[in-house]
Amino acid sequence: KYTNADLVARREAAVPRGVASAAPVYASYAENAELWDVEGNRYIDFVGGIGVLNTGHRHPGVIAAAKAQEDHYTHTSFQVVPYAPYVELAEKLNALAPGDAPKKTLLVTTGAEAVENAVKIARAATGRPGVIAFTGAYHGRTLLTLGMTGKVSPYKKGVGPFPADVFRAPFPNVRDGITVQDALTGLQNLFLTDADPARIAAIIIEPVLGEGGYTPVPFEMLTALRDICDEHGIMLIADEVQAGFGRTGKWFAIEHSGVVPDLITVAKSMAGGYPLAGVIGRADVMDAMDPGGLGGTYGGNPVACAAALAAITVIEDEDLLAKSIAMGDKLKARFAEIGARAAPYRMWDIRGLGAMVAVEFVTDFESIAADGALTKRIIAQALKRGLLLLSCGMQGNAIRVMVPLTASEEIVDEGLAIFEEALSAAVA
Ligand code: PMP
Repeated sequence: KYTNADLVARREAAVPRGVASAAPVYASYAENAELWDVEGNRYIDFVGGIGVLNTGHRHPGVIAAAKAQEDHYTHTSFQVVPYAPYVELAEKLNALAPGDAPKKTLLVTTGAEAVENAVKIARAATGRPGVIAFTGAYHGRTLLTLGMTGKVSPYKKGVGPFPADVFRAPFPNVRDGITVQDALTGLQNLFLTDADPARIAAIIIEPVLGEGGYTPVPFEMLTALRDICDEHGIMLIADEVQAGFGRTGKWFAIEHSGVVPDLITVAKSMAGGYPLAGVIGRADVMDAMDPGGLGGTYGGNPVACAAALAAITVIEDEDLLAKSIAMGDKLKARFAEIGARAAPYRMWDIRGLGAMVAVEFVTDFESIAADGALTKRIIAQALKRGLLLLSCGMQGNAIRVMVPLTASEEIVDEGLAIFEEALSAAVA
């Protein structure tokens, strides 16, 4: 039998400290929006394995599909003996993605791998090397995606140099006083100073900044990026790894803006808890690389594909897009009430799109300086009381909600009540 303390000690000896774990408790069982640790303690899960569980832990439909697939084959490598679930999932994703142009989908295993492949495809399609990403962006921890990720500590410290021809433009962020116009001026200046637009293959943006703070990109910014990409023959990539699959109330967050990207990267909630990711894009662009240029031994694992097809069916059958909008409204209203009851708690901003919601904590309302320490205390107090929370933001001073969209009203209410108690305890 395990204890949390014993496993913490064994882990310290066996696993590098670079893989940080947010909670010092070890999982034993999970169902929908609840999780139990090895000592039998129960937690309400507002994290969902970092945005992977929009359909909840072990959704019966997802588990049944994965088990049925396991009874046939679990791996053949799509590059050797292909299989139907990969093709069926690609067809489904092509149909779901925005825009009228014919589409194709490549399946891989992780979000970072999806981003790497989107860049490769954009380079092959345009014959250009450059990539532009934004301040605060998170695109992964592999070396190319790290170069694109816009946060030094802890991700980029001591592991450079990063690939050349990756440029950074300012993200439009009210907190930093950067308007859409400022951000677009920054991008135009980048074209003048460092990044010849004729050498840029792709501009990549998260339609809702994820790790960087759950900040939606103003729609006029996305529209302007589309125009700039069209003007210069640049591919627009929407990184929907965290925002996709219903989190914001649409299949893809960028749909809220009406902007159609050339390529979309997906992962996380697509496969209901199984490792799967992909690049969905315009067929002519996706076909730029020669046969053999794309892939990987495990890409599009058949069990994960079966799980993804089932997870998509769950999102449709249980009306999770509408539920996400309703949940987002509820979360924002409840956070506003909590903030009003407790002005000294210094909840400065409540923001998001659909159920992709975060609250930000500051030291005072004048300077709005980030209060990462308070945020940490809230998360620790919540854990003690049975609620799993995770921070985000460049200074770790926001708490984001990624609760399963399948969670019952009662569970969400219980979680929010614990959140308020944790807040009081953290301030006291
Ligand atoms: N892009 C975005 C927007 C993400 O949020 C993440 C993961 N948090 C990634 C890419 C990388 O995905 P993975 O961790 O599966 O490599």
